[in-house]
Formats: sequence, structure tokens, C-alpha cells
Amino acid sequence: MLEELAKLFGPTATTGASRAAVDAGWIDYAHQVGQTGQTVQPKVYMACGVSGQIQHLVGMQSSDIIIAVNKDPHAPLMKLADYAVVGDVFEILPAMMDEIRRT
Ligand SMILES: Cc1cc2nc3c(=O)[nH]c(=O)nc-3n(C[C@H](O)[C@H](O)[C@H](O)COP(=O)(O)OP(=O)(O)OC[C@H]3O[C@@H](n4cnc5c(N)ncnc54)[C@H](O)[C@@H]3O)c2cc1C
Repeated sequence: MLEELAKLFGPTATTGASRAAVDAGWIDYAHQVGQTGQTVQPKVYMACGVSGQIQHLVGMQSSDIIIAVNKDPHAPLMKLADYAVVGDVFEILPAMMDEIRRT
């Protein structure tokens, strides 16, 4: 779903991941953002279901605009985010993708 969303955002968008996602085998280690992964500084960083432990934050906290989607409003990344969306990614992201496709 995130790969599909990145495609909808356009050719400059790409997917990164937390270590939990890499450890789960969902994505290759080369995409890990954080202390033991990549440091990134995009114009927009959208974190979907990422808690925001310090080891992740050090790799992305300098991004210009941070959007977080998390069902836990108290997750650390929700406090750092410029835009914090409280909700289930499996509901929020399909709605967002539908909206992008319509426009
Ligand atoms: C030495 C060391 C180095 C590390 N290096 C890194 C690193 O480089 N990068 C890194 O990322 N981590 C690193 N870590 C691990 C780090 O401490 C965290 O364990 C990791 O970042 C947690 O990943 P996560 O937020 O995806 O998973 P979790 O901590 O499991 O959090 C999942 C989050 O998703 C939310 N969520 C779950 N399901 C949904 C849903 N359906 N809809 C919306 N929200 C949902 C939950 O509320 C929660 O906030 C390192 C740890 C150590 C000790």
C-alpha cells in the first residue's frame, strides 16, 4: 500500500522504513531510516504506523514537513509531526489514495 501511495505522489517519492518493518522482512535493510540506517531530509516525510523511537528520529527529524499517521495519539512521532493524523493506516491511506486519484 505504501509503495502504491509513493507512486501516486510522483517520481520523486520513495519508501523508507523503520527497523521493525525491516526486521519483519517487509522491506530491505537498505531502506531503513535511523541510527543504524539511512539519514534522510526530504521536503515531506510521511510516517505511517511508526512510533518514533529516538533511533528512528535521528534519521529523519530534519525533514522539512513531517506527517504522521498513527492510531496512538501519544506516539513520540505524533508530537514531532507538523501534521498528526490519529487513525488506522488501513483506513487513512486508502482514503488518501482515493482522494489523490480523484484530483
Ligand atoms: C542500537 C539500536 C539501533 C536502532 N536503530 C534503528 C534504526 O536505524 N531505525 C529504526 O527505525 N529503529 C532502530 N532501532 C529500533 C527502535 O528502537 C524501535 O524499536 C523501532 O524504530 C520501532 O519501529 P516501529 O515504530 O515501526 O515499531 P513499533 O515500536 O512496534 O511501533 C509501531 C507503531 O505503529 C502504530 N500502529 C500499529 N498498527 C497501526 C495501524 N494499523 N494504524 C496506525 N498506527 C498503527 C503503533 O501505535 C505504534 O506507534 C534501533 C534500536 C537500537 C537498540
